[in-house]
Amino acid sequence: MTAATDAHLRRLPKVELHCHVEGAARASTIKELADKNGVTFPVDDPADLYRFSSLNQFLSIYDVVCASLQTADDFRRITYEALEDGAAAGVRYREMFFSPGFVIRLGVPVETVWDGVRAGLLDARADLDLNARMVLDFDKPTGPAHALEMAEFAASVGDRDVLVGMGADSVERGVDHLAFKTAFEHAGRQGLRRTIHAGEDGPVDNIAVAVRELGCERIDHGTCLLDDAALTAELAERQIPLTVCPTSNVTIAHIVPDIASHPFARQRAAGVLVTVNSDDPGMMAFDIADEYVAVARAYGYSLEDMEAISLAGIDASWAPADEKAALRTRFLSEFDGLRAELGCAPRAG
Ligand SMILES: [Zn+2]
Repeated sequence: MTAATDAHLRRLPKVELHCHVEGAARASTIKELADKNGVTFPVDDPADLYRFSSLNQFLSIYDVVCASLQTADDFRRITYEALEDGAAAGVRYREMFFSPGFVIRLGVPVETVWDGVRAGLLDARADLDLNARMVLDFDKPTGPAHALEMAEFAASVGDRDVLVGMGADSVERGVDHLAFKTAFEHAGRQGLRRTIHAGEDGPVDNIAVAVRELGCERIDHGTCLLDDAALTAELAERQIPLTVCPTSNVTIAHIVPDIASHPFARQRAAGVLVTVNSDDPGMMAFDIADEYVAVARAYGYSLEDMEAISLAGIDASWAPADEKAALRTRFLSEFDGLRAELGCAPRAG
């Protein structure tokens, strides 16, 4: 067993599958875009923008972020910068959410959002040492008509290599998840992969509905999965991944008091395919490398554990099989190189 140092974990190659482009926006960029677009910026120093202590405060900051995003170029910029920051945290492959529901309400067409997001992603692919694809999230509380509209838009984007899937986010309480069946079925028929935020602030039944009724192939968060032993066994058997965001569950949703109390380690021990993700790295000022450090410390994980968690991200991704194989080869080679450079024992086997 090898100790996992913070510096080593920061440089470990990673896959990230749960990261929102809006939540990854740099405060300094939002300040510039707010000024450009005539939006009142609520604090003097951009560094103070992302200080929040409750979910309501977090959501009001989120409103400022969304109001500041108005043109395709605004979306291009935050998408590019989110991937640049990801690359600096060791991300080699990311499937990133964008949630047009918020800005559509403010009058920005979904086509404008998509044009910008797509351009930012393609620029990042050209410039950075990483690959990424996008997942369009609809806003669950807005209801099933909005969900279907987003599924139809996603289906109209022919390029599955850039827009790989559809998901759904925001609060769960009081939301009937079964009502999204038509939207998810439409997305599935059009070749879009499917995921959903479930079991975060809502009951474990939402996870059951997602995997048994909505055709979801992944669950975002899934924090309360262990409440249902049969469902836990089903997810482990079907290897349906969870995109877990432990620190977000502590600081944004306040589901658990600290990471040590988070069920991640118990879910992993139960054979569930769990992955580590940052959720909103800009707004939390906490990226996926910080998350790897936090998880390793909280559960006493070794470097071997953390390398295995990194590889689980490849398994859980929607990259084509040949790309997954290439990522795996690259990651193993990087694991070896980092161990040699940082004076660790070679990997076993
Ligand atoms: Zn999320």
